[in-house]
This record gives sequence, structure tokens and C-alpha cells, in this order.
Amino acid sequence: MNKVYIREINSYAHADLEIFIKNFFLEYFDAFKNVRKILLKPNILQASIPERGVTTHPDFIRVVIKALREIGNFEILLGDSPGANFKNYDKVLKITGIKKVCEDERVKIVKIENFKPLLIDDTIISSIINDVDLIINLPKLKTHSLTGLTLAVKNLFGLVPGTNKVNFHRKNPVDEKLADAIFKVYDIVKNKCIHILDGIIAHEGDGPSRGSPVALNFVAASDNAVCLDMAVCDILGLGRGFCLTNKSALKNDDVYKFTITGDKISRKIKIPLSRKSLKVPNFLKKFVANNIYVKPEVNKKCIGCLLCLNSCPVYAIKKSDDGKVIIDKKACIECFCCHEVCESGAIDLKRSFFHRVIVND
Ligand code: SF4
Ligand code: SF4
Repeated sequence: MNKVYIREINSYAHADLEIFIKNFFLEYFDAFKNVRKILLKPNILQASIPERGVTTHPDFIRVVIKALREIGNFEILLGDSPGANFKNYDKVLKITGIKKVCEDERVKIVKIENFKPLLIDDTIISSIINDVDLIINLPKLKTHSLTGLTLAVKNLFGLVPGTNKVNFHRKNPVDEKLADAIFKVYDIVKNKCIHILDGIIAHEGDGPSRGSPVALNFVAASDNAVCLDMAVCDILGLGRGFCLTNKSALKNDDVYKFTITGDKISRKIKIPLSRKSLKVPNFLKKFVANNIYVKPEVNKKCIGCLLCLNSCPVYAIKKSDDGKVIIDKKACIECFCCHEVCESGAIDLKRSFFHRVIVND
């Protein structure tokens, strides 16, 4: 039976964090047999300071590196592909505090896009997966406007290089289909991954980047990302299917049974507007469905950086005459990639009239 380790920890500086991670590594010591090169795969979505809870906290990464150094002499790499922000990788690494940690701890930063893309089972993925012996997945616990939550399975989507992620959205415009495609990425790499989730400062509301930080004060680890993600849904009191990649996992007929080792805890989190449930009976839903939506809208903070334009899978964003951007709401498929990548807080999610009336606040 799979195991998920959970520990309440209320600060990145707490000695318990180091003990938890070290014990987890010792528990899975076999996973390190014949391992020479390790990739740390944090969530580095955008240039956001650690206190906002958008990216894996640098102090969390530091503790992982220190624990690794104690159990073996590995070559440690760190890398991610932060969506349309991959071109500003250096800036993103600096602002998230991750560059400093890597410099201090002599960890080599790699760019996922610098490794040849592979096509495996109809899925484009960076060949870095073949260059390393083990991937230590370090997701941040966050809500996600499209997939409900972004946890361990979703974090591995960052192994898809750069704007290839936009193609995933283009090919899979419906949220559950996208989750299925993301699950395929996990399926390709799952046998060389272990996972440690940063839920000390998490992100709630309109995640993954425009919500608010929230202290959930726990960490979780497992060698099975799906079990870890399901355990987190249980802790948050959300159905396991609220995290759409869990639904995709269950479609694959696998039985995900696990036991919890450690603290039995529960937490509350504000979910995204776009994932709130309808208050109407099913027979009415189809009559109002077309009028219940949440769409992005550009506000005055726009600086015309065009990150959103480059992320839109259906070309619904155009440059306007004043150098900023406009969104064609009819063309928009509500993937929220623009909302996710905008570092200026310039994209709001606006609810339609019927959404405000019908959907629970
Ligand atoms: S909305 Fe945000 S991402 Fe898009 S151009 Fe403006 S500032 Fe850049
Ligand atoms: S406008 Fe934004 S939410 Fe709409 S399809 Fe484009 S990226 Fe997705």
C-alpha cells in the first residue's frame, strides 16, 4: 500500500522541516540507489516574491538540498519551465529567491527548454527526464482556476518545454481533457519521481497566481503523486475529484490506496470563483449554461509586456493601439492562462450576471 507522510510545520525555519525531509529520504533510500544526478523540480510559475505563495518557497528548497547533501554525493540540478515567462527565467529565479539558494548551495540551474524536446505517447516533454536519474518534485499547494488545485501531478507539467504548454491548451480546450493531458506527462515520468509538497504558505482563491497567500502550515510527501494529491484534497475537505488530475488518474483504472503516516489534520481553503458550484437544479443548468461564465478582463495595471498574448492558445488576445492588450471574449475559451502568467495583476476574472446570481459565493 502507498504511504503519504504528513507533518504540521508552521515555519520554513522550523527544525521539524529538516527532520521530516531527511526521514522521508531515508524511508525511500532505495530510490537513491545508483542515483548520480538529481533534478529538483519546484513550482517557478512567475516572478513573484516568496511571501505571495505562488512559487515553491526558497527556504523549503534549501532544506531539501541540505538533506540531500547529508545522504549522498549527488550532482543536483534545479529547473522548471515557467509558462510564457520562460524567456525571463533569470528575472523569475531572482525575484522568487530561488537563484540565491542555488548559488549559496552550489546547485546548477537548468532551463528545461535547453534540452531537446521528446515526443512520447503523443506528448511533448523535455529530454531532461533522460538526463537525470531521479526527479524530486517540489510542488506548491495552490488553488487553480482551471484544474481546481495544482499539486504534485500538475507540477510536473513544467517538464513540457516553454510554449508547448500553450499547445496542450489548444488541443485540449476543455478543463478535464487538459487534466488528462497533464496526467499523461506524470505517467511518463512517474517511475523516476518522488514528491514533497510545500503547503506551509499556500495560495488560495483565484490561483495559481492571483489569489492570496494562506498559512496552511503543513508539508506532505510520497513516492506516489496521485496518492499525495488525494490526501491533500482530504485534508482540505474537498472531494478528491475537485483536483481534476485526480479524476484523470481514476480514469486510468489504477487503484489508489494509501495510508497516512504522521499528523491527521484538516484545513480550509478558499476555492477559485471559476470552480464554485451551481445552486440550480440539473434540468435548469443546460438552459443557463451559456450565460454562466467567468472571463478575463484587462485592467489599468497593464504594462503591455504581452506575456498574456503569447500564452493564449486561441489567439483571443490582441495588442491594442495604446500598446496594451484587449481580449476578444467571444473567442476566449476560459483557460485562464493569461490570468496565470500576468505578473502585473492586470487581468481580473469577471463573472457574468448569471454567474453572480446562480453560483455560490
Ligand atoms: S495584461 Fe498583464 S501579461 Fe498581458 S500585456 Fe498587460 S501586463 Fe502583460
Ligand atoms: S483570453 Fe485568456 S482565458 Fe481566454 S483563452 Fe486566451 S489565455 Fe485563455
